[in-house]
Amino acid sequence: ATFEAMALAAPLKEVLKELEYSTPSPVQAQAIPLLLEGRDLLGCAQTGTGKTASFAVPILNAINNDQQNTVNKQCRCLVLTPTRELAGQVAKSFATYGQKVRFRQTMIYGGVGQRPQISAMRSGVDVLVATPGRLLDLIDQGHVNLSGVEFFVLDEVDRMLDMGFLRDVKRIVALLPKKRQSLFFSATLAPNIVSLAEGILKNPARVTI
Ligand code: AMP
Repeated sequence: ATFEAMALAAPLKEVLKELEYSTPSPVQAQAIPLLLEGRDLLGCAQTGTGKTASFAVPILNAINNDQQNTVNKQCRCLVLTPTRELAGQVAKSFATYGQKVRFRQTMIYGGVGQRPQISAMRSGVDVLVATPGRLLDLIDQGHVNLSGVEFFVLDEVDRMLDMGFLRDVKRIVALLPKKRQSLFFSATLAPNIVSLAEGILKNPARVTI
């Protein structure tokens, strides 16, 4: 498998070439074609496997191919992560892989002032990378609207549950449009994680590496 053979738009292929990503990692080779077809995904993958590109690249590809939607101010992609550090890594990956795609992104996480996050939301974002608690705070205050979300990614769900975010995650999921593409990544698939996934994903493809 090669990135060149995948149904990716030129701005994504050019960046992957410049990054010298010659071969898709196993999770990328499996996940990217499924995600480009619009499938939901249940991925069992650790960090360091190329997991982030496996979701960022197809989402950026869709945003690139549908620039018309970018003029509206609604958030199109929500990525939930358990920690601020992981949120930063994911946002950095979107910036890297999307360097030739016109899109805006921001991060929302706790432990810092809300003001800059609120003003970033007000100016409009396509991709929002957030931790659950602060995201709910800003939703409750009316600063974040999830009704335009087309892509929903839950990253490192096992850690998210270890940190006690189950209720927050369920509240956030309840605010998302029914029609969306959902991606769910966890390093382990214990029964409680699989049952959470079943409530979120529709007919998911399963990728394990
Ligand atoms: P991740 O698991 O997404 O955190 O990625 C781990 C590291 O692998 C990151 O530093 C990426 O830049 C790098 N990487 C991801 N995909 C590829 C690829 N197909 N070829 C080479 N490096 C990659």
